[in-house]
Amino acid sequence: MEEKSLQAQLEVLRQNFITQLPKRLEMLECGLAKWRSGWNEDELSEFHRTAHTLTGAGATFGCDELSQVARELEQQLITPEQARQLDVVESLLDKLRLVIQSAKSDGPIEFDVPSVRQLPELSLGKTIYLLEDEEESSRNLAFQLEHFGYETKCFSTTESLKKAVLQERPSLIIADIVLPEGNLAGIDIVNDLNESVAEQVPTIFLSSRADFDARLQAVRAGSHAYFTKPFAIESLVDVADGLTAAESPNPFRVLVVGDSEQQAQFYANVLMQAGMEVRVENDPLNVLDVISDYVPELVLMDLYMPHCTSIELASMIRQQAEYLGLPIVYLSSETDRKVQLEAMRLGGDDFLTKPIKPSELISSIMIRAERYRLISSRMSQDSLTGLLNHRRLMENLQNEMARAKRHGGDVSFVMLDIDHFKGINDSYGHAAGDRVIKNLARLLKQRLRGTDIIGRYGGEEFGVILPQTGIDEAVRVLEEVRVHFAAMEHYAGENCFNVTLSGGVAGTSSTVDVSELLETADQMLYQAKREGRNRIISCCPGS
Ligand code: GH3
Ligand code: MG
Ligand code: MG
Repeated sequence: MEEKSLQAQLEVLRQNFITQLPKRLEMLECGLAKWRSGWNEDELSEFHRTAHTLTGAGATFGCDELSQVARELEQQLITPEQARQLDVVESLLDKLRLVIQSAKSDGPIEFDVPSVRQLPELSLGKTIYLLEDEEESSRNLAFQLEHFGYETKCFSTTESLKKAVLQERPSLIIADIVLPEGNLAGIDIVNDLNESVAEQVPTIFLSSRADFDARLQAVRAGSHAYFTKPFAIESLVDVADGLTAAESPNPFRVLVVGDSEQQAQFYANVLMQAGMEVRVENDPLNVLDVISDYVPELVLMDLYMPHCTSIELASMIRQQAEYLGLPIVYLSSETDRKVQLEAMRLGGDDFLTKPIKPSELISSIMIRAERYRLISSRMSQDSLTGLLNHRRLMENLQNEMARAKRHGGDVSFVMLDIDHFKGINDSYGHAAGDRVIKNLARLLKQRLRGTDIIGRYGGEEFGVILPQTGIDEAVRVLEEVRVHFAAMEHYAGENCFNVTLSGGVAGTSSTVDVSELLETADQMLYQAKREGRNRIISCCPGS
C-alpha cells in the first residue's frame, strides 16, 4: 500500500461519513423527540451517546467544526437538568444542521499521513555476497552459511562483486581484505560501493590482518564487524543474524475495537500502512474470543460501546491471567480528565484523544506494542536459545489444538533430541555443548515458518508445533532440518565435529488431546533412537 493510496482510502471513508451525516442528524432529532416525550434517563444516555459518537467521528474524519458543535451538544446532554434546557439543545441541533450542510460541499482534505515505509514482505531468502579469493575457504564458508539459512553468492574479484551489488542489493556483504588486487582491496571496493549506492549494505570484514591500520580503515568504510582468521562460524552467524534481522520483523498484531465501523476502518488503514497487522471487531461480545484466537499485541478501543462499557470489557480481559500485560489503549473524544483516569485505573494503559494525527497514533501504538513484545518474550523465553520455554510451549500447544478444533485443520507436534549429546559434553566440554544447542535453535528458527512455534522442551530436547500442517508435510520439513543439522560443523577450539538429531512426529485429528499427542511424539522419538538415531519417525494417533 503506497502513501498515496492510503490518502485515497482515507478520503473514501471520509466521503462515506459525510454522505451519512443526514442520517446521523435524523438519529439526533429522534433522540431529542424521545427525550422530550418521556424525560426518560435511558433515552437521554442513548441520545448522549449518539452525540458523542459524532464528536469522535467528526474529529477522526477531519470535520473539526462539526466535531466541535457535536461536543457542545454532548456536553449539554450530560445531566438531565442541562438537557431539559430545550432551547439550548434545539439551537445546537440547528447549528449542527448548518455545519452538516456546509460539510457536504467540502472538498477532499490532506490527512497527516506519515511517510512510514511499508515493512518488506517476510522473506527467508537472505542473500550474502561473499568476497574471497581463496576458492577453498570461500566454498567452505558459503556451505556453512547456507546451513544457517543464508543464500550465498561467491565472488573472487572486486569487479565482479561490484557488478553484482549494483545489479541486486544483497542483505549483507562479507569481504576478505587482502586480495590479489591489493592489501586493502576488500576495504577499497566497499568504500567505492558506498559512494555508488544510496543505502549502505551492511558489511563484515574477514582478514588475516589484525593490525590497527586495517581495522581503522574497516571502521572508516562503515563496516559492522571485523573477524580475524581463523574465527568461529557461530560468532560470524550471530553478527550476520543481527545485521539482517531488521529486514524481516514480524508485524505487530493490533486489535481495533469500536462500534463505529467507519472509524475503526479508518484507524485500521492507518496502522496497516505503518506495517502492522490489524483485526477489526465491532461487536464487544466477540472480543474475548477474538483475543484468544488472534493473540493481539495491543488492543485499541473506543471508550463508549453498546452492551457493556469498554471499561468493563477491559476488566474482563484483565481478569484472565495471560492477558494481564496486554496493552489496552483507549481512543476517544472524551476529554474529561476524570473519566480518562478512571478508565486507566480500571485496566487501560493509555488514553489517546481524538482528533489524533495518524503519525502520532502510529508512534503511540508502536511504542507500546514493542515494549509488550519485548517483555512478554523475556518472560516466555529460554535464556540459552531465545526459544519458548517449556511452560509457554505447552500453553501454545493447548491453544493451537483448541483453535484447530474450532476452525478445523491439522496440528503436528514434533519432539527432537540431540543424539549422544552426553558424549559431546564429555569430549568437548559443556560450553561446546551449549553452542551446539544454540546452533540447533538457530537452525530451527531459520528453517521453519514464522507461524511454527519452537520451544526448548528441556536439556537437549526441543518441541515444535506446526499449526495447519499435516503429518506428511511436518515430516518433510523436519527431514530438511535433520539433514542440515547433520551437515553443520561445530567448533571447540581446534576441533571441528558433527552432531545428529532424532525426531518423533505426531499429528492430530480433532479427537486427539494434548497428552495423547505428546505421548505419541515421545514414543516416536524413542523408536527413532532405537532404530539407530539420525532419523525422523512419525505416527498419526487414531489412524
Ligand atoms: P541419546 O542419543 O540417547 O539422546 O543420548 P544422549 O547422550 O543425548 O542422552 P542423555 O539424555 O543420556 O544425555 C543428555 C545430556 O545432555 C545429559 C546432560 O548433561 C546434557 N545436557 C542437558 N542440558 C544441557 C545443556 O543445557 N547444556 C549442555 N552442554 N548439556 C546439557
Ligand atoms: Mg535427552
Ligand atoms: Mg539426546
